[in-house]
Amino acid sequence: METAVDLGTRDCVEILGFPVDRVGVGEAMERIARFVREGEPRVVVTADAAGLVLAQEDPEFASIVRQADLVTPDSVGVLWAARRAGKPIGQRVSGVDLVDLVCQRSSEEGWRVFLLGSAPGVAEMAAERLRLRHPGCNIVGSRHGYFPAESDEVVAREIAETRPDVLFVAMGMPRQEKFIWATRSIIRAKVAMGVGGSLDVHSGRVRRAPRWVQRLCLEWLWRSLLNPKKLSKARQLPVFLWRVLRYRP
Ligand code: UDP
Repeated sequence: METAVDLGTRDCVEILGFPVDRVGVGEAMERIARFVREGEPRVVVTADAAGLVLAQEDPEFASIVRQADLVTPDSVGVLWAARRAGKPIGQRVSGVDLVDLVCQRSSEEGWRVFLLGSAPGVAEMAAERLRLRHPGCNIVGSRHGYFPAESDEVVAREIAETRPDVLFVAMGMPRQEKFIWATRSIIRAKVAMGVGGSLDVHSGRVRRAPRWVQRLCLEWLWRSLLNPKKLSKARQLPVFLWRVLRYRP
């Protein structure tokens, strides 16, 4: 069993044994800005229901989630579990939103941003579109995410040369978090964050659900129906609900 992690002044709710920060998008961004100012390498996890189920089954991933500096509530399932635990959280904080907001801050403050992950060409396309959306945003590099774990160190050294303040890794859970954890002392990004399929969305390859679907909190269902690979993730939702209902700390 893992030893408890000192959460300091963080306001968290425990879900399936993992801390999830009770933050909205604005507070998450404030926290990220503080990390960038402070300059020590920090790790951010965007936690959805399937991710927390996965973490229960993968001790290495579990330990990363417990030691992360910020764990954002990235699904309606997580919001439901927080409410059930008596510590409600107001809104979802997704990787897609954080990539967008960090790029906006980058255009204002010059933060150096690196985009790693997704199929060849996608990170570049996302960079191009983010630069158009946030003129002046300082994306210092991008690279696809299809390489074996044995090459992690080589890739990390390439990224380190660009001296990123914020590193986004879009390679799916738990691969992206394991890459971040294993290479954090090489890359030394002030913030490194796993963002799943966010670069697919920012590249324009995958569309976000219409606003009315987002408002009904059904974006996950929309994307699952359009992408069979996502369906296996949606199947984790009842597992998550069942485990939360039965969870005893
Ligand atoms: N991916 C990658 N390298 C791999 C496997 C996947 O870069 O070895 C990318 C894939 O192209 C996709 C993202 O990782 O862009 C995973 O997206 P998904 O939405 O499935 O991630 P999740 O949010 O479910 O963790």
